[in-house]
Amino acid sequence: MSPDSTLPSVTLARLQEIVQRVNAAEDLHEALEIIVHRVKAALDTDVCSVFVRDSSVPQYVLMATEGLNPGAVGMVRMAADEGIVGFVASRQEPVNLANAAEHPRYRYFPETDEQRFSGFLAVPLVHFRQSVGVLVVQQVSQRVFANDEVAFLVTIGAQLAATLSNAALGTTFFPREPGPLGHSELIQGMPGAPGVTIGNIVLPSRLAELDAVADRAAEDAGREEAIFRRAVHETQEELRASADRMEGRLSAETRAIFDVYILILGQDDLVEDVVARIRNGNWAPGALRDSIAEHAKLFEQAEDPYLQTRAEDIRAIGHRILLRLFSDVTEVKKYPSNAVLLGDEVSLARIADVPPGQLKGIVCLRGAVLSHTAVLARELGIPAVMGLGPRNVRALDGHPIIVDGYRGRVFIDPLPAVIQEYRRFVQHEGQLSAKVAALRDLEAMTTDRVQVRLGLNVGLLTDMDVAAYLAVDEVGLYRSEFPFMTRETFPTEEEQHEIYRKILQAFAPKPVTMRTLDIGGDKPLPYFPMTEENPFLGWRGIRFTLDQPDIFLTQLRAMLRANVGLNNLRIMFPMIGQINEIKAARQALDRARRELAEEGNECPAPTIGAMVEVPSALFSIPTLSRYVDFFSIGTNDLTQYLLAVDRNNPNVARLYNHLDPAVIRALDGVIREARRCGKPASVCGEMAAEPGSAILLLGMGLETFSMSAFAVLRIKWVIRSFSSQQTKNILHHAMRMECAETVRIMLDDELRRAGLGELVLA
Ligand code: PEP
Ligand code: MG
Repeated sequence: MSPDSTLPSVTLARLQEIVQRVNAAEDLHEALEIIVHRVKAALDTDVCSVFVRDSSVPQYVLMATEGLNPGAVGMVRMAADEGIVGFVASRQEPVNLANAAEHPRYRYFPETDEQRFSGFLAVPLVHFRQSVGVLVVQQVSQRVFANDEVAFLVTIGAQLAATLSNAALGTTFFPREPGPLGHSELIQGMPGAPGVTIGNIVLPSRLAELDAVADRAAEDAGREEAIFRRAVHETQEELRASADRMEGRLSAETRAIFDVYILILGQDDLVEDVVARIRNGNWAPGALRDSIAEHAKLFEQAEDPYLQTRAEDIRAIGHRILLRLFSDVTEVKKYPSNAVLLGDEVSLARIADVPPGQLKGIVCLRGAVLSHTAVLARELGIPAVMGLGPRNVRALDGHPIIVDGYRGRVFIDPLPAVIQEYRRFVQHEGQLSAKVAALRDLEAMTTDRVQVRLGLNVGLLTDMDVAAYLAVDEVGLYRSEFPFMTRETFPTEEEQHEIYRKILQAFAPKPVTMRTLDIGGDKPLPYFPMTEENPFLGWRGIRFTLDQPDIFLTQLRAMLRANVGLNNLRIMFPMIGQINEIKAARQALDRARRELAEEGNECPAPTIGAMVEVPSALFSIPTLSRYVDFFSIGTNDLTQYLLAVDRNNPNVARLYNHLDPAVIRALDGVIREARRCGKPASVCGEMAAEPGSAILLLGMGLETFSMSAFAVLRIKWVIRSFSSQQTKNILHHAMRMECAETVRIMLDDELRRAGLGELVLA
């Protein structure tokens, strides 16, 4: 039959219809059934089958068919070097054959009854370069499928590949023999906070499911209202108690999140809405269900992802009240000694519920590196993995889990061998921490006595005990956006003054570098939604604050006032890309000082710096030097802008690498230029906290390394293990390499050679 004979024309509408039905499927099995049924009809052929890769073997398994013997589903398995299916999967190209039996790789499976079929078209299901399956159509007669039919199958295949890769977690797709090895699943997300934990999953309590509450007529509306109001009051008390438990672990502004919850409860809106529904005849739980659903929906519909997460807060509050309504006794959640909180987002209230010492890990289906939860986890020193993607986790409460916060991955129900490996790793981490603790009072100095400054990055925690414990030289980066992100409105000058004063005071006389508000990009404000096509190239950092002088001046005034009598403030401006921006920022600072002086508040002039994180700044160091006292290089943003890779986008995350030789050369140039211009330079991005990269930065002659608490003593160990000449040689070598991978291998070798192999493992 010729390819252009009277075959059905395959239309876009038909494709869309299949895709829609597949998306509406309850589970993967149903999705596969829909595909084989619909594709077979659309191509008017005799068979459609899907083979799915079982990566534990690895083999391609027949998982759905219409036309072959249904009894063969789950039974027929092919390795990559077996049959035409294996051939298509390994070559990752379609095969279109008039008579399959003539193909050298043809293999007959008696279970399938397939000797009757000749025409054969198969397309690989490829997701991120990996073959995850093969989609096949077959025909009794000899038939070469037409080009539009091949295109149709390829298109369906691309959709199916993504669906297969995002298959629901917790559903065992491949039937397995229950055996000593159990079922283990590795899920790749994004690193949230470093460290490794072996623990047990704790899901949000489902004792009282709001959605499951039925309507019931209130027998006595007055009594029902009183019961409800008491439950609200008790919930407020409970939240206050949780906030108190976090006392000393969190800054005042972070604990303010609890106040937000208490406030929501105290506001007439929600409570009175429920009361109105009770007076209309519903009993309290039914009225509460409707009010919570309505309030949560308002937030869910917001475009801003941060606002969407507020819906979770509302539901969490509703859930707590329901627990109170349903029982006279509070549900006392029993936490395992190694609790790993898992959820869409893990709220602060959930973190605070866990008794101190029992929280060992955090895993969020949503969220990215800079989400609140990740920042908090880093500051509390709890390993976290973010952004696993939408998954069904309902069945996983209590299941064992390994959280690998270094690589951003988790293992659910890990195999004993994997647990053993990670146990060794956790033990090693403990030994490493104990070992580097001994370096606390030693100088951060190379073997040839070149002194380096170590700084701390802080955001949510204002608890300076950590800084004292680590004996750092300065706060190299205070991310001032966090107090803004944990509130319901822009904080007032007084509120900001109080926060900044505490930090400056706790650290005086050592310098504290406060960065002005850096929102936008991946740091949205709940109360100032921005909808931008391309937020990382949009209204963020200094661009935003210069356009909002009211907000900018308030912040600058608060910082300047906080510095009176202490004089350890350094102010730094984020996202400087053009000279006019630094000039305007300086003018704003001058104006704030002048106005304060006019009000009788003489404030000392702070030292001023610019962040180097926008590529244009790389080439403007001499001009920028005229307007600043120091530079701080933000390698997180600089890497993403140089490589054009969004650091939070899982599709391209693997391309994000600050060891790319292009990034290394750029950094070397900046540090050299800054030195030539007589301005000190520091690095406050994650690169400064990474042992291999630290060698390169030392080789560049970097003066100050600023990082989160976790890394300080490890980096000190690196600094104390090399001479500056050694680091220069290593840098020289790296700059001539072709790719990040070879640089990584070389740096790991150097660390091992210097006796720091334990840091490579970490
Ligand atoms: C950076 O970009 O490297 C940096 C330190 O700033 P942030 O990660 O807060 O954007
Ligand atoms: Mg940045």
